[in-house]
Amino acid sequence: QKQTCIITGASSGLGLNAAKALAATGDWHVVMACRDFLKAEKAAKAIGMPSGSYSILHLDLASLESVRQFVANFKATGRRLDALVCNAAIYMPTAKEPKFTADGFELSVGTNHLGHFLLANLLLEDLKAAPNQQPRCVIVGSITGNTNTLAGNVPPKANLGDLSGLAGGVSPASPMMDGAEFNGAKAYKDSKVACMMTVRQLHQRFHAATGITFASLYPGCIAETGLFREHYGLFKKLFPPFQKYVTKGYVSEQEAGKRLAQVVSDPSLDRSGAYWSWSSSTGTFENQVSEEVADDTKAAKLWELSARLVGLN
Ligand code: NDP
Repeated sequence: QKQTCIITGASSGLGLNAAKALAATGDWHVVMACRDFLKAEKAAKAIGMPSGSYSILHLDLASLESVRQFVANFKATGRRLDALVCNAAIYMPTAKEPKFTADGFELSVGTNHLGHFLLANLLLEDLKAAPNQQPRCVIVGSITGNTNTLAGNVPPKANLGDLSGLAGGVSPASPMMDGAEFNGAKAYKDSKVACMMTVRQLHQRFHAATGITFASLYPGCIAETGLFREHYGLFKKLFPPFQKYVTKGYVSEQEAGKRLAQVVSDPSLDRSGAYWSWSSSTGTFENQVSEEVADDTKAAKLWELSARLVGLN
């Protein structure tokens, strides 16, 4: 049996292109974990993934019940597991009001962080037993989690504050993790910071005991993906050329997909706890995370609260 990689949100953008890149090696079978089966099937065909190189399993990260069901369904397939990629995300920069998951969590934090938090925890044992003996768990990060760049400093900046909103369940009464007033763009950035802190916690808690390599990455600005679907029309028109010619952070979906596939399978990228980025001069390099992401005391608190919210303790 080929090595198996689960990729969440593989129906478009980065996830789809990483799925294609891995499947194209001939060494990997990709389980596309998607909320819209038909969209995923059409996307896989349209991008030219050979049938048999992938399968699609239903996963809606905005429901803890669906996450648990996905894990049960995956186990029932009897497939081996060698890598997990937590890639799916939603971004609601123009939302005036928050939306909520089936469990009552603010939608961006619930989907991007809490859903993946539960998923990764439930699959640790399977990863530990990976037949390829170099299992990896990758959670896609964001430039907002490293403040050594211009883009990482664009307001509203991520800030998890004292985590009081998360302690209250990022519920309608207090939908932001820091307990402040709702801001859709910030909720996304906060969720990505939580993803990057989770990678560091996973590394500290489980790497030595399981041998799993935990990693995060910022693949570059993939300005044309569906992530920006809810942004203003003018933004969507101007953002790709801005990223191409002004910030020079632009990366095509295809190139970004190759970068993610590299973090899953390149033997040289095996440092657990790392945060990978790319530069035109040096290629892949291990980047610095922001001060907040590096705050391991806060990350431990984030872990405890998240575990309680998803029912792990
Ligand atoms: P896309 O919108 O193209 O892809 C997001 C994927 O997530 C889609 O497949 C979407 O499914 C899926 N998804 C959303 N909500 C759920 C849910 N509840 N359950 C399951 N799947 C869900 O955006 P990108 O490819 O750009 O984003 C992929 C990752 O890359 C994200 O983690 C994002 O934060 C990160 N990223 C993106 C950057 C960029 O510039 N675009 C830069 C840095 C990081 P569906 O197709 O059904 O909507």
